[in-house]
Amino acid sequence: MKVNGKNESIECTIKNCTFHDQKENYCTLDRIKVGTHEANPTQKECTDCESFVNKAQ
Ligand code: SF4
Repeated sequence: MKVNGKNESIECTIKNCTFHDQKENYCTLDRIKVGTHEANPTQKECTDCESFVNKAQ
């Protein structure tokens, strides 16, 4: 659920992302897509937020 623009259903600490709340560790999108860069993901390090956009760009 969105509260003051942040989605309390999606916690996130990636402050370099355009969609990070900045004030608190939440995403501001309604939904995100999680994917992988691996052919056979076996650890959490294999997973990616594919909705990430670099804030610096
Ligand atoms: S899009 Fe992904 S990386 Fe960016 S703030 Fe939301 S959950 Fe975090």
